[in-house]
Amino acid sequence: MPANENEQVVRERMDFDVVIVGAGPSGLSAAIKLAQLSQANNQNLSICVVEKGSEVGAHILSGNVFETHTLNELIPDWKEKGAPISVAAGSDNFVFLTTKKHFRLPTPPQMNNHGNYIISLGNLCRWLAEQATQLGVQIFPGFPAAETIIENNRVCGIITGDFGIGKNGEKKESYQPGMELRAKYTLFGEGVRGHLTKRLEKTFNLREGKNQQTYGIGIKEIWKIKPENHKPGKIIHTIGWPMDSQTYGGSFLYHAEDEQVFIGYVIGLDYKNPYLNPFKEFQRYKTHPFIKKYLEGGTRISYGARAINEGGFQSIPKLTFPGGALIGCAAGFLNVPKIKGSHTAMKSGMLAAETIFESLTNSKDNIGAYEEKIKNSWIYTELYKVRNIRPSFRYGTFIGLIYSALDTYIFRGRAPWTFNHHADNKALSKKESAKPIEYPLPDGKISFDLLSSVYLSGTHHEEDQPAHLKLIDPTIPVNYNLKFYDGPEQRFCPAGVYEFIEESGQKKLQINAQNCVHCKTCDIKDTTQNINWVTPEGGGGPNYPNM
Ligand SMILES: Cc1cc2nc3c(=O)[nH]c(=O)nc-3n(C[C@H](O)[C@H](O)[C@H](O)COP(=O)(O)OP(=O)(O)OC[C@H]3O[C@@H](n4cnc5c(N)ncnc54)[C@H](O)[C@@H]3O)c2cc1C
Ligand code: SF4
Repeated sequence: MPANENEQVVRERMDFDVVIVGAGPSGLSAAIKLAQLSQANNQNLSICVVEKGSEVGAHILSGNVFETHTLNELIPDWKEKGAPISVAAGSDNFVFLTTKKHFRLPTPPQMNNHGNYIISLGNLCRWLAEQATQLGVQIFPGFPAAETIIENNRVCGIITGDFGIGKNGEKKESYQPGMELRAKYTLFGEGVRGHLTKRLEKTFNLREGKNQQTYGIGIKEIWKIKPENHKPGKIIHTIGWPMDSQTYGGSFLYHAEDEQVFIGYVIGLDYKNPYLNPFKEFQRYKTHPFIKKYLEGGTRISYGARAINEGGFQSIPKLTFPGGALIGCAAGFLNVPKIKGSHTAMKSGMLAAETIFESLTNSKDNIGAYEEKIKNSWIYTELYKVRNIRPSFRYGTFIGLIYSALDTYIFRGRAPWTFNHHADNKALSKKESAKPIEYPLPDGKISFDLLSSVYLSGTHHEEDQPAHLKLIDPTIPVNYNLKFYDGPEQRFCPAGVYEFIEESGQKKLQINAQNCVHCKTCDIKDTTQNINWVTPEGGGGPNYPNM
């Protein structure tokens, strides 16, 4: 029975061997590997990738310092084929910030980027999509996978989102029902906190016996800076100010090509103070003298935000279910101390592709073998070694740093214990026990207001459509969140989607869904998990140029 069993609409149907949800590094690597295997073995597999962004790359936001070894394996002649990878990583700088000063710290081995490259992951995905298309993969940008088709306890494909439904749920003249894209196997490469992945985890009980996933929010800007301040390849990571010692967070500043720098801040979503505003923390971080000197006289050209997995090894769910598997950050293969997940996302997609190819060509359904392939791969070893580093920071920055040094240099990742994670949405303190934070006003040169920032994300949604941020209980924002936590959603959303307004003397939550940049923070951090992010009409969302 399809997941949307009550829907009485007649849908067009297309059949494929494999449908892949998401044209990120994981989904595109899976598609390319499958197509390569298909060609090498004289098969004719039909492979389709659906992507909710208006084009491939439009919704990709990453640092990004890129490890190329997985790409070497997938497309060994990527240089000759013109992959957009040109700026070799230069000096690594790991710095502790206080309010006005900075202190250099030894660079941890995980942050040694010798041999890596500073890239735009969005542009790499655009190039990977070209490679996939040349191999015969069909890519459908602007088509969100809105529902999963599950029949007889087996995933049999997805249904793309309907077009032309109005705000009140009525069909407009432009109405077109979503299509059924059926497949022998479906891979879910939705990235962090995928909305179908979230449902699959429940339906197939994929988290049983595993830690919950934990997350951070990453906010990023691209700047074009003065040539004299630009040092291609330079990498700076900071910890310390403006976070207090109980809040996990740090920044990145990467000198990319064309006098651009990629600057961003990641804050653990287990932060406690409901008054913390991740966007404003990032804005004031840029005003630190050590950081500001790079930006002065430069121009900000892009803005965006995206959640990032921080659970690592102990949070990897069961990866397979009848008819499909989770790949990339949808599963959670990010290496937190490295802040890297592109290489693991790609490798997981390739391993899933190999498994599916074997199943299809041997006519023996063995999707479960993907789980074994992951366990036997370097992904597992890499994530196992660093599994205790992120959770050790729950005791504060200094204890986290000391434990991480011990874990890395003395235990070498082989300590006979594994720390657990806790749920991000339960971490907030009540407003009475929290201290409001005074943020400086933006200066319009280095720090900016929210609206001008969201404008630079290029985000756009058709206004006359049902809100894609669904409240399970509409009374909770005012009666619970505002009452006990002073409405943290008005601060944690980096796009100003949630606003408490007053109407006829009553407080009310207004949802400006058209501003949403699809970071998924609200779906994660909302105290009672009352906010459910679902896919909006196709093509809606940010339009990142080279994030
Ligand atoms: C701030 C930040 C900094 C980072 N820095 C680095 C770094 O320096 N180096 C590094 O290696 N990694 C870094 N990462 C991690 C890296 O970006 C991810 O590990 C990687 O992007 C994961 O790839 P993915 O394919 O799993 O998911 P994503 O890259 O998230 O791609 C998922 C794609 O699926 C699409 N999608 C989602 N749901 C649907 C749906 N239902 N229907 C259709 N399409 C859908 C999305 O629009 C998107 O295009 C960083 C991440 C962040 C947030
Ligand atoms: S509404 Fe949610 S997903 Fe959209 S930008 Fe705000 S926090 Fe992110």
